[in-house]
Amino acid sequence: MNAAVPSVVAAAGRAFIDLILPPRCLSCGIPVANQGTLCATCWPALTFIGAPFCEVCGAPFVYEVPDDTVCADCLRRPPRYDRARSVLRYDDASRDLVLAFKHGDRTDSAAPFARWLANAGGELLDGDALLVPVPLHPSRLLARRYNQSALLCDKLARIAEVDWSADGLARRRRTRSQGRLSPTERRRNVSGAFAVTEAGKANVAGRRVVLVDDVLTTGATAEACASALLRGGARSVDILTLARAVTLNGAGNG
Ligand SMILES: [Zn+2]
Ligand SMILES: [Zn+2]
Repeated sequence: MNAAVPSVVAAAGRAFIDLILPPRCLSCGIPVANQGTLCATCWPALTFIGAPFCEVCGAPFVYEVPDDTVCADCLRRPPRYDRARSVLRYDDASRDLVLAFKHGDRTDSAAPFARWLANAGGELLDGDALLVPVPLHPSRLLARRYNQSALLCDKLARIAEVDWSADGLARRRRTRSQGRLSPTERRRNVSGAFAVTEAGKANVAGRRVVLVDDVLTTGATAEACASALLRGGARSVDILTLARAVTLNGAGNG
C-alpha cells in the first residue's frame, strides 16, 4: 500500500472536520488556522510555569535556587499531597482559557491541554500512576453536562499511557463556590466534602494517585481530596493542574 495514502485520508478527514467545525482560538473563539491552538493575541498572554519552582507545591521562584528547594509556605505547613505541578500561571489570560473550557462548551480544549499537562507533569506520570479527577457534585454535573477534570484525565491517560479512574473519588456534599472565600474559609468549606467511593477503593488502594484539576488556588480542594484519597488507601497523592495561582489572591475554585 502506498504510504502516502493514510496521510492523504487523514488530511481529508481534518479538512472535513475544519469544514463543519472551523478552528477557533481556545480562549477567545476567533477563527485561527489550526484546531487546538490560540490566536496571536491570546497565546503570548499566557505564562507557562518553568523551573525554578518549589519541589513540593510547584510555586515558581523568581530567583535561581538549588534543585529540590522547598518554599517557605511548604516548610511552615507541609501539604497533604507529595508534589503539585501546573502548566500555567493563573492570571487574566489563563482564567479566560479555563472558563471557556469549563463553562463555554469548549471541550475540544481537552486534547491540547492534556498535551501541556503531559509536559508539565512528566515526573509524576510514570507507569504506575493512577489519574483521578476532582469530582463535581452530581447536581453541578447535571447542569454543566461534563466534568472538565475527567475530560483532562481521559485525554492525558492516553498520552501518558497510564490508568485513570472516573469514580475514584466522590463529592459527598455540595460546596459553596470558593471564589470569594478566604484561605481558612476555603479549607472549612471543602473539609470532609470528598470520599473514596466503595467502587473506587479497589482502584485506589495501594496506588500512587495523581489528582487532576483545572486550577489550584489556595490548595484547599487539592488537600481535601488528597486526605480523602489517603484515607481511601492511596499510597501517595500528587496534584496536576492546568493553572495555579502564584499568590493567595486567586479567584478560582481551588
Ligand atoms: Zn484568542
Ligand atoms: Zn511550596
